[in-house]
Amino acid sequence: MLTLGCHLSASKGFLSMGKEAVSIGANTFQFFTRNPRGFKGKDLDLEDCKAFVEFWTENNGGKIVAHAPYTLNACSADERTRELAHMIMSDDLARMEHIPGNYYNFHPGSHVKQGVEIGINYIVDLLNEIIKPEQKTTVLLETMAGKGSEIGRTFEELKTIIDRVECKEKIGVCLDSCHVFDGGYDIVNHLDEVFEEFDKVIGLQNLYAIHLNDSKNPLGSHKDRHELIGKGNIGLQAITSFINHAAVKSLPIILETPNDIEGYKKEIELLRSLEKK
Ligand code: FE
Ligand code: FE
Ligand code: ZN
Repeated sequence: MLTLGCHLSASKGFLSMGKEAVSIGANTFQFFTRNPRGFKGKDLDLEDCKAFVEFWTENNGGKIVAHAPYTLNACSADERTRELAHMIMSDDLARMEHIPGNYYNFHPGSHVKQGVEIGINYIVDLLNEIIKPEQKTTVLLETMAGKGSEIGRTFEELKTIIDRVECKEKIGVCLDSCHVFDGGYDIVNHLDEVFEEFDKVIGLQNLYAIHLNDSKNPLGSHKDRHELIGKGNIGLQAITSFINHAAVKSLPIILETPNDIEGYKKEIELLRSLEKK
């Protein structure tokens, strides 16, 4: 069975997210570690974490994905902005130890006018400071659409970062179907070739999770606008091949489509019906 779920609101805590996921047929989910705009994190409720871990194990839940606030910029030219990213990400990782063995996904950042090389240096420095060899969480770099000066549009950029992270077993990639398509990787007509390239450049053993979104815009548009499954430029046929691809089918697959909870439930049902057994 596919490990499939969607992005959920974290406002009521972990146990509540776990129950909501199960109620819509999901066996994974994603959540923001804190308000993506405000940065403020609630105090961690350890009882809630414990109750969630128990509930999730009983229900055979898969690995879940925490998403860092997307407003962070680990490679900003501004030192205070970089320090904020450092502070928040290390605090998030400390919290994640209470729901051990899961994933922490973040957007590598935008180099603005500094250039890719300097941007990557900042990201690598930050990761080497915050990733501890004994931590139970794997940090994931998200593939980006290449909007503005976003780092992480090409597999090569992600590979350069991974190569320089000291703790190799705690770093990996989360591939976003809308982002790679917007970034110019043709998963509609050349799905096998895209994954062959991923394997050649980064290595499929470094792929840990998937964001599954259709795209409002055509291939290579660098826009990053998610669309409902089957309603965008990727389309249902390509998405069916995608979720059944050997590189994808055993990973946690997270929907980030423009939906309410009912809509997510329907998309999960649809995708489960398209799984080739
Ligand atoms: Fe994201
Ligand atoms: Fe995403
Ligand atoms: Zn996106």
